Amino acid sequence: MARHLITSAIPYINGIKHLGNLVGSQLPADLFARYQRARGNEVLFLCATDEHGTPAELAAAKAGKPVAEYCAEMHEVQSKIADGFRLSFDHFGRSSSPQNHKLTQHFAGVLAERGLIREVSETQMYSPTDGRYLPDRYIEGTCPNCGFEDARGDQCDNCTKQLDPVDLINPRSVISGATDLQMRETKHLYLCQSQMKDELEAWIDSKTDWPVLTTSIAKKWLNDGDGLQDRGITRDLDWGIPVKKGDEDWPGMEGKVFYVWFDAPIEYIACSQEWVDAGKGDDWERWWRTDKGAEDVTYTQFMGKDNVPFHTLSFPATILGSGEPWKLVDYIKSFNYLNYDGGQFSTSRGRGVFMDQALEILPADYWRWWLLSHAPESSDSEFTWENFQSSVNKDLADVLGNFASRVTKFCRSKFGEVVPQGGAMGDLEAKLIADLAEKIREYETQMEAHEVRKAAGALRAAWVLGNEYLQEAAPWSTFKTDPEAAAMQIRLALNMIRLYAVISSPFIPDASAQLLAALKTEDDSWPGDLDAALDVLPAGHAFEVPDVTFRKITDAERDDWQERFAGTR
Ligand SMILES: [Zn+2]
Repeated sequence: MARHLITSAIPYINGIKHLGNLVGSQLPADLFARYQRARGNEVLFLCATDEHGTPAELAAAKAGKPVAEYCAEMHEVQSKIADGFRLSFDHFGRSSSPQNHKLTQHFAGVLAERGLIREVSETQMYSPTDGRYLPDRYIEGTCPNCGFEDARGDQCDNCTKQLDPVDLINPRSVISGATDLQMRETKHLYLCQSQMKDELEAWIDSKTDWPVLTTSIAKKWLNDGDGLQDRGITRDLDWGIPVKKGDEDWPGMEGKVFYVWFDAPIEYIACSQEWVDAGKGDDWERWWRTDKGAEDVTYTQFMGKDNVPFHTLSFPATILGSGEPWKLVDYIKSFNYLNYDGGQFSTSRGRGVFMDQALEILPADYWRWWLLSHAPESSDSEFTWENFQSSVNKDLADVLGNFASRVTKFCRSKFGEVVPQGGAMGDLEAKLIADLAEKIREYETQMEAHEVRKAAGALRAAWVLGNEYLQEAAPWSTFKTDPEAAAMQIRLALNMIRLYAVISSPFIPDASAQLLAALKTEDDSWPGDLDAALDVLPAGHAFEVPDVTFRKITDAERDDWQERFAGTR
């Protein structure tokens, strides 16, 4: 039994994510986790919320809540939505957990001991009224470029010019409105990534099987301009992990916290500790420590392309730099962006479908199927309502759903709700089984290669074979002249429904469960030998005609939704 550690990039805490976020990390990670479990492998699948940093503080302030309370509530919200999409995390953790505090402080301490952290003096805006340093986004003022009065410290939203807070005319604190801001000298810690460039590059060069999208982004950051830069790992914020050297105070770093990019990936490890502390597992080290059993673990990460630099360079710099035997990632699957109906998803303008809204209008499987079968792998892809409607209606309703419905209803009308007896398979059946075997082996190959769209294509092709067989065998005609032959055809077709339920479960888990329940079987074993897999439901086995597995999306619904999600949430 192979052992798979699987992580999805952790979603930021401030608000509900859109479908583009979902298909860029959590959903394909879930597909892969479900597939590996279905193959009988041991899986630890982890995700969490990324809770620290300025946007969380600002969102909490906007909601009028203490930031800890805001994060706790939003974690619950995101957790419920993840359940709604059937994301099968073994644990959905929180980067603000005590486990992550301790582990992040540990890594910082070890990296400092090994000479990989240095102190840098910087000047930064201090607000005496607020009694704190202000990060860029906590300062607003008049844009020196266009005169816009509410330009942020990092960028002007009006003319899009990148800014430094010192550029602003009449700068003021976002928290209090105070204008008596002062430039003060303050110290920050930097991770010496530049010292590790050669080691990181050699490691990335050894990953010849990674997607080009992943390695090209990593190489760009390694070599463009002045090459890999040292990076600040501390911030002047209240909300975050206090800067400590292991268990000890860090002189000069009082009141500072670690920068969110440093602690967020460490949460992958801390999440497994949370998993154990929640009583769901008993040993996290055998997944993460190569000296304690993780040597045979295959670790796969899923993420959008914007997260690639952190996972190919920054987090590995932390892991490798520690000199401790932590498990490094084996494969990084990255995704391009999903666009929405001729433009981009926009959280601020409410453009596109957000995860909560999606579940209000259709069950999870409809979305899972479309998103995965159109995953933005080799390039960006686009969600359109026409494409969504057509894909759902054809693939799910006409092909898979219709097959299950026709077969079970025909059987009920001619033989009753029981697998019929009699007849012997012929050449047509032998060819069907050979074709099915080929498609399923292709499906497995694509899944193992993390090729999401191609796996969906192979699965769809396997479904299509069922309908083609029904057309050709035509049991409704056969029945009139040779009822025994019709019984054989229907017995085979009923077994194919079970087969489809099993192999489709990573994509559409609810439909899969519904079909297995209707067939009154709990045998969800992966088909190795196809002859055996198509003989699981014996003659005489009782079943029930399932309710509609997939309904069609009407033109009126399509038009209505298109208008509803055009913007202004
Ligand atoms: Zn401007």
